[in-house]
Amino acid sequence: MLLKSVELSGFKSFAKKSAFQFTSAISAIVGPNGSGKSNVAEAFRFVLGEQSIKSLRGKRGEDLIWNGGKDAPRSNRADVKVIFDNSRRFLNIDFDEVSIERVVNRDSSNEYFINGSQVRLKDIVELLAHAHIGSSGHHIISQGEADRILGSSMKERREMIEDALGLKIYQYKRQESERKLEKTLSNLVQVESLRREVAPHLRFLKKQVEKLERIEQLKENLKVKALEYLKREEIYLSNEEKSIEGARKPLEDEFKTCGEELNSAKEALEKSSGKDKKSDELISLEKKIKEAREKSEGIIQKVGKLEGRIVAEEEILNKQKEIALSSEHKTVPLVEVENLVKEAEGSIEEAEKAGGLETFKAVLFSLRQMLRSFIENKKGQTDSRIIQDTERKIQEFKHLKDEADNNLAGIKKIEEELYRQYESLRKEIETAKDSSRDAEKKMFEIMSRQKEISAELNVLRERARRLTSESEEFKREIAEIAALAGREILEYKSFSVDSSDENREKQEERKREIEKFKIRLEDSGLLGGEDVMKEFKETSERDSFLEKEINDLRDSAESLKKLIVDLGEQLDREFKEGIEKINKEFQNLFALMFNGGSASLKLIKAQKRIKKETDDLELPTDNVESEEKEEFEEGIDIDVVLPRKKIKGLMMLSGGERALTSIALLFAMSQVNPPPFIILDETDAALDEANSKKYGDMIEDLSKSSQLILITHNRETMSRAGVIYGVTMDSGGVSKTLSIQFDEATAVAK
Ligand code: ATP
Repeated sequence: MLLKSVELSGFKSFAKKSAFQFTSAISAIVGPNGSGKSNVAEAFRFVLGEQSIKSLRGKRGEDLIWNGGKDAPRSNRADVKVIFDNSRRFLNIDFDEVSIERVVNRDSSNEYFINGSQVRLKDIVELLAHAHIGSSGHHIISQGEADRILGSSMKERREMIEDALGLKIYQYKRQESERKLEKTLSNLVQVESLRREVAPHLRFLKKQVEKLERIEQLKENLKVKALEYLKREEIYLSNEEKSIEGARKPLEDEFKTCGEELNSAKEALEKSSGKDKKSDELISLEKKIKEAREKSEGIIQKVGKLEGRIVAEEEILNKQKEIALSSEHKTVPLVEVENLVKEAEGSIEEAEKAGGLETFKAVLFSLRQMLRSFIENKKGQTDSRIIQDTERKIQEFKHLKDEADNNLAGIKKIEEELYRQYESLRKEIETAKDSSRDAEKKMFEIMSRQKEISAELNVLRERARRLTSESEEFKREIAEIAALAGREILEYKSFSVDSSDENREKQEERKREIEKFKIRLEDSGLLGGEDVMKEFKETSERDSFLEKEINDLRDSAESLKKLIVDLGEQLDREFKEGIEKINKEFQNLFALMFNGGSASLKLIKAQKRIKKETDDLELPTDNVESEEKEEFEEGIDIDVVLPRKKIKGLMMLSGGERALTSIALLFAMSQVNPPPFIILDETDAALDEANSKKYGDMIEDLSKSSQLILITHNRETMSRAGVIYGVTMDSGGVSKTLSIQFDEATAVAK
C-alpha cells in the first residue's frame, strides 16, 4: 500500500492524537452523524496543501484547531501527518518511507515538513504533483461533492480533468516559463537602456581616439623626418668643430712664435740702435695697437653673443605669433570671462523672475547672441602681451648690439689710425736708417704677419661663435622634438645617413618640414591621450559586454517562448488523448450503471467577451477607447442520453441519476490515470440497493489501481472494505477511533 497511515492531533474534533492505519486496498470509515468522519477526509486535504479554508469548512485557520470541550482544553495547534510507503519511489525523494506533515497555529501561521524537516508549501506541492496527487483534490471527493464536476463551469471541469490526467505538471512548467520570460524581458529592457546610456559617451570617446590616432601618425611622420635631420645636423656640427679646431691650432702656435720672435727682434733692435727715440715711439705704437686689437676682439665677441640671442628671441617671437594667430590657444583674460558669466546670470535671473515661456525663449536667444559675439570678438584678437615682451627684449639686444658696433667702429678707426701712424713711422725709419736696421725690418715683417694671423683667427672665432649658437639651437631642437614625438627620437644617434651629402640647403628644407609637423602637432593639443584610450577601452568593453548580454537575453527569451508554445501544444495533445480515453471508460461505466444509454465529454470552444483598454502611449489621450475583444475559451461539456428515456442534458437528471453519472465520470477519470489513493466521502449516499451493488463492484475494480478510503453509511460499501474504522464522539465532543469488524460496523455506523 502506498498510503500507510494518517495521524491527527488537535485537528478539528480530534482533540487527542488519533491514527488510522491503511493496510488494505479498501478501508472504510464508519460512524454516526457528526462523529467526525468528514474531518478525516478534510485532514487529508489539509495535509496535502489545501489553501482554501472554505473548502475545509472553516472561516479562519483557527477553525481547524480543536476548540476545547468539557474534558479537554482547546489546543494551540492542529497537526496532521500522512505517511507513505516510498519503497517503489513513487515520490521523487530518496527515502523508503516519506512523512508529510502540516501544522496550523492559532495565529493562522502554517508550517510544513517532509520527513521532519521544515520545507515550503511549494516543495510539498511539487513533490505531490509529480506523484499525481494534485492540489485540486480530484481524488478527494468530499461529502455532497460527488456531482461537483457536473455542476461546475466548463473551465473548472477542464482544470479538474487536466489535474486528473496528470497534466498539471505541464501547467506548472508553463507558468514557470512565463514568469521567467517576463523577468527576462524586463531585464532585456533594462540592459538595452543601459546600453543606450553608454552610446553617446562611446561615440564621443571614439572621435577622441580617432583624433589621437591622427596625432600618433603626425608624431610618427615627425619622427621619421627628425631622425635624419638630427643625424645630419650632428655630423655637420662635429665636422665644423673639427675644421675650426684644426685651423686654429697652427695659427695660434704661429702667433705665439711671432710674439717670441718679435721680442727677440725688439731686443736686437734695442741693442743695435740704442734707445732711439723713433724706435721707442714705434714700440709704444705697437703696444697701443695690441691694446686696441684686444679691445676690438672683446667687442666682436660681445657682438657675436648679442647676435646669437637676437636670433634665438626672433625664433621665439615667430612661434608666439603663430600661436597667437591660431584660434585653439587663445588666451582670454579671466576678468572678461567673469564679466560674461555675470551678464549671463543677470539675464537668467531676470527670466526666472518674469517667468513665462516667451520671456524664457527671448532670454535664451539673447544669451546665444551674446556668447557668439564674445567668441567672434576673441577670435579676431591676438594675444599681444607676451609678443610685446619678446619684441622689447629683441629691441634691447639690438640696441646693445648697435652700441657695441659703434664702439667697435670707433676702436677700428683708432686701430687703423695707429696702423697708419705705425706704417708711416716704419717707412720713415726705413728710409732714414740704413741696412743695419735689419732687426727693425724683421720686426715689421713679424708684426705684419701677426696682423694677418689675427684676422684669420678672428674669422675662426666668428665661426666658433656661430657653431656655439648652432649647437645650442640643436640641443633646443632635440628637446622640442622629443617633447612632441617622444624620447625615442634620441635614437637619431644610431640613424645611418649618407655622410657625403652635407648640402645645407637641403638640410634647411628638412628643418622647414619638421617645423610644419611641429606646428600641426602643437595645434592638435596633446593632453590626456592615455586617459582617453583607457576610458575608450573600458567603455567599449562595457558596451560589448552589454551587447552580449542583450543577445543572450534575446536568445533565452526566444527559447522560453518556444518552450511555452511547445508545452501548450503538448498539453493540448495529451489533454485530447486523455479525453478520448476517459470517454471510452465513461461510456462503459455509464452503460453499466444505467443498463444502456450513452455519455461523453465534449471539448468545446466558447466565446467570451473581454473588455480591453488600449494603452498605446503613442495615441493622443482623447482617442483612447475601450474596445471589446472576443476570445475563445476551451472547456468541457458533458453529453448524456439515458436509456428508454427521452432525457438529454444534465439539468433533467434526478438526484440519484446525477450521483450515478458523476460516479461513472469520476471512476472513468481515475481509471485512465489512477491516483495513488482516492477518498470518497459518502459518494454512495443517494444510491438505492441495486445501484449500491453496482457501486460496490466498481469500487472493487477501482481498488486494483488505487488505494481507497471510503466514508460511508452504506452496508454494501462496508462489505467491500478490508479494514473498517469506527469513529465515535464522546460526551465532551472529542472524536475517537476504533478498529471494528464488519458485523459491528453497521451498528457503529448508526
Ligand atoms: P455526518 O455523518 O453527518 O456527515 P461526520 O461524521 O462526517 O457527520 P463531521 O462533519 O466530520 O461529522 O464532524 C463535525 C463535527 O466536528 C461537529 O460536531 C463539529 O462540532 C466538530 N468540529 C468541527 N470543527 C471543530 C473544532 N475546531 N473543534 C471542535 N470540534 C469541531
